[in-house]
Amino acid sequence: MIRRAVTAAAPTRAVVDRFVAGETTADALRVATELVGAGCRVTLDHLGEDVTVPAEAALTVDAYTELLGALADAGLADRVEVSLKLSSLGQALDEELAAGNAARICAAAHAAGTTVTLDAEDHTTTDSTLRVLARLRERWPSVGAVLQAYLRRSEDDCRALAGPGSRVRLCKGAYAEPDVVAFSTAAEIRDNFMRCAEVLLTGRGYPMFATHDPVLIALVTDRIRAAGRGVGEVEFQMLHGVRPDEQRRLVDTGHIVRIYVPYGTQWYGYLMRRLAERPANAAFFLRALIGR
Ligand code: FAD
Repeated sequence: MIRRAVTAAAPTRAVVDRFVAGETTADALRVATELVGAGCRVTLDHLGEDVTVPAEAALTVDAYTELLGALADAGLADRVEVSLKLSSLGQALDEELAAGNAARICAAAHAAGTTVTLDAEDHTTTDSTLRVLARLRERWPSVGAVLQAYLRRSEDDCRALAGPGSRVRLCKGAYAEPDVVAFSTAAEIRDNFMRCAEVLLTGRGYPMFATHDPVLIALVTDRIRAAGRGVGEVEFQMLHGVRPDEQRRLVDTGHIVRIYVPYGTQWYGYLMRRLAERPANAAFFLRALIGR
């Protein structure tokens, strides 16, 4: 019902547009160009998840291939990479199919001169995603992983992925998970985020801290110095449309800041996760929906 209402009602497009670049490759390039002009790096996500038909997964590969060609043509490939969800490449159907599709996208990214990061999805996919990651990294060592601090297993996964050449995005995690696999209180998740951050910062890979949480940003900033790393040896990442002032402040203080920019027609699941994260966003959305 909400999906239909949003699609039909012009005012609520403003809510979608705050978090999503638009529906086309041209929209993604426009927003990426603006952000690069403002001193940021970007990771572009072609929206889509839970694909269960091989032909749809093939369309996702086509979309990324088109995007990567356009990034190279626009001279943006040194600052703009792509993020992808294996579920949009058929992971639920067949891990082999998703791995093959992801390899096609990695080859296109390599040809364009940029990198790929595999997003993390719900915990039932973690083992499969890390298996596919390991295979992709044999050919393209720069393929990045995402680990979620709410998962109890993530400190061990950080340790396994903290070696030379490894790129790891650490985030809190965005899915509803059972207590048996995940921490549930804000304090526990922050504590585990910092344990994982410590492993990554003292390791030999390239850590990417994806959070808007001011407490974590302050703690991580202190630990970057204590671990003897320069500001150029780690990056902060934030979502398009979330805390733009903080994004600016980090850029102005010399940090590498990468903005995660989703685009495409399949924005519904992504938008719902952003609204669920913050009641104020849901209120903003509902006001727009009823036109007040
Ligand atoms: P929170 O405690 O949620 O937020 C801290 C503060 O940030 C809030 O008080 C508020 O001021 C601001 N804020 C946070 N979220 C919003 C919002 N939606 N709108 C407005 N303000 C907000 N999760 C995954 O499970 N898999 C992934 O692959 C993944 N990739 C990500 C990539 C990037 C670059 C980022 C930034 C996040 C990613 N996430 C991913 C989402 C992440 O797991 C969290 O759900 C999300 O970042 C919110 O957690 P937080 O650390 O920002 O802290």
